[in-house]
Amino acid sequence: MIKAIVFDWAGTTIDYGSQAPIIAFQQAFESFGITVPTAEIRADLGLDKLDHVKKIMAKPDVQDKWREKHPNDSISQAVDQIYRRFQTEIVQVLAKTSQLKSGLVELVAYCQQRGIKYASTTGYTSEMLGHVIPLAAKQGYTPEINVTSDLTNGIGRPNPDMLLYAMDKMGVEGPHSVIKVGDTVNDILEGKAAHAITVGVVEGGNLIGLTEDEYNSLSIAKQNSLKNRAITILENAGADYVIDNLQDLINLISAIDTDQKYEPQPAPILLTPGPLTTSPVVKKQMLVDHGTWDDEYKADTQAVRQALLKLANVSSANYTAVLMQGSGTFAVESTIGTAVPKQSAVLMIAINGAYGQRMAQIADYLDIKHVDLNFREDEITDWHQIKRALDAHPEVTHFAIVHCETTTGILNPIETIIPKVHAKGITTIVDAMSSFGGVPIDVEKSEIDYLISSSNKCIQGVPGFGLVIARKAVIDETAGNARSLALDLYDQYKCFEDNDGKWRFTSPTHVVYAFLQALRELDAEGGVSGRNARYTQNEKMLRAGMIEIGYQPVIDEAVQSPIITSFKYPTADFDFRSLYEYLKQNGFIIYPGKVSNIDSFRIGNIGEVYSGDIEELLTLIKKHDVVKV
Ligand SMILES: *Cc1c(COP(=O)(O)O)cnc(C)c1O
Repeated sequence: MIKAIVFDWAGTTIDYGSQAPIIAFQQAFESFGITVPTAEIRADLGLDKLDHVKKIMAKPDVQDKWREKHPNDSISQAVDQIYRRFQTEIVQVLAKTSQLKSGLVELVAYCQQRGIKYASTTGYTSEMLGHVIPLAAKQGYTPEINVTSDLTNGIGRPNPDMLLYAMDKMGVEGPHSVIKVGDTVNDILEGKAAHAITVGVVEGGNLIGLTEDEYNSLSIAKQNSLKNRAITILENAGADYVIDNLQDLINLISAIDTDQKYEPQPAPILLTPGPLTTSPVVKKQMLVDHGTWDDEYKADTQAVRQALLKLANVSSANYTAVLMQGSGTFAVESTIGTAVPKQSAVLMIAINGAYGQRMAQIADYLDIKHVDLNFREDEITDWHQIKRALDAHPEVTHFAIVHCETTTGILNPIETIIPKVHAKGITTIVDAMSSFGGVPIDVEKSEIDYLISSSNKCIQGVPGFGLVIARKAVIDETAGNARSLALDLYDQYKCFEDNDGKWRFTSPTHVVYAFLQALRELDAEGGVSGRNARYTQNEKMLRAGMIEIGYQPVIDEAVQSPIITSFKYPTADFDFRSLYEYLKQNGFIIYPGKVSNIDSFRIGNIGEVYSGDIEELLTLIKKHDVVKV
């Protein structure tokens, strides 16, 4: 198990492209009339800064230059003077270059959640670092210990002393549970010397050595060639793993902790909820075949059902979780077709999008009497109108509503509506397909009788089954209601209950194992609230970034869910196909629109997607728009 991470600073956690030391070195040498090319400085970055000055001053051409300009001062005096000058320059530069790299804040939250400690070592002196620490803290990054070579008798990288010092102070033993992360060869050597797990980061690191704007303006082919060159250098230095960015470290830790081979997330990233992007470890669970009669498999199915009750905030005395083969719609059809009796029952459906519409269509197919209550697609369903409709239709026995209408991404206020509907003695059905697991829902407190979701939305599994959280007292009364053999929710429920987790008919075994892993990852992220925080951050970043590029969201921010965001076509002749194909070529899949009266397209924020991905996506969209003009 990973117990601690020791990070480098510039180029790794702050200062994209590791600009600060380069600028400060160049200015320091320049002030003595000596020009040192950037590449020469970059070659030894990560060293202790005094050692670094010495190393540059050891070059014959630099010494010649010095003697020519300063005939009275020795080389060792040169080292002293230039180093002192560097120290004053760096302070000025640091103030401008200490922005955290993307993915760090999420990574740190992940570490805190899992009790993984984190510290830093650096080639900076304690004085320089003293300027950086408060700037990083202000942005949400505070390592437990920050070690400079001042604490290790001046012994810096590539020696292991600083890293061992950090481990000692954190109280972690056994370097195999410690990851050293850095962007330079000296970082890797330091980690190897301490027998830690060494991880090189390439994006925004010294080996690429470009500012974020410079890097983003390159073609993808050029970026890949720079990345491959950096990967080779770090691997040749002995790095155990090389990752693109800090976000990949979460997958890496999860792979190490579960004893699996680390696989970087393969392209494409799906921004289509869902199916959505699952973690490499989730995907991997499907490589083993399982028998369905097996006791272990049945126990695992029971564990899934139990975990779902916990996610729904319901007691197992009052609620049950029923799994149903098929996509989400199969579970909706199964629920409506089983919950509503054949005689003297009427279903009211609150509709503000395609999924509400689909429930009406299901009712038509099943010959269920229904009253449709239509709202505008860009407005939430409103209790007062629902109340008026219920008053006008006292014959209504069942009520259905969508929580997050994935058509637009609007979030309907079920917490206020459902208890009031339920108080009238009406059975309540909520399609929370795209929100369950990503938006906290108190199913029991909200008086929801049936809540429906599926394996491939916010719980981040693969497609294959739907799930229904049902109030026992209600589902117990539904024997014989079903209009379909395969979709009989009651029979499915009874089969699970009477046979210790045995599925009726062939079950999606591979999907169930992927789902179990997805549940573990949801737990590791801090449960629904942790996941909600990440999705919310993705959504806010996407919305703000798209508005900046010139796209307008379809719905108001106040009613926007963190799940998916829809955008209007910016112009009448906007070519969605062209944007879609361009993003697909570059590793992202987005979603066409579904709003009936507005030309729009959608981008999902859920799945194994982090702010770094959103940032990359926004850069691509900007690039596409520029290319087009
Ligand atoms: C995804 C989704 C469904 C189910 O769609 P399937 O394609 O059948 O999986 C139902 N309702 C909502 C709100 C959804 O987002």
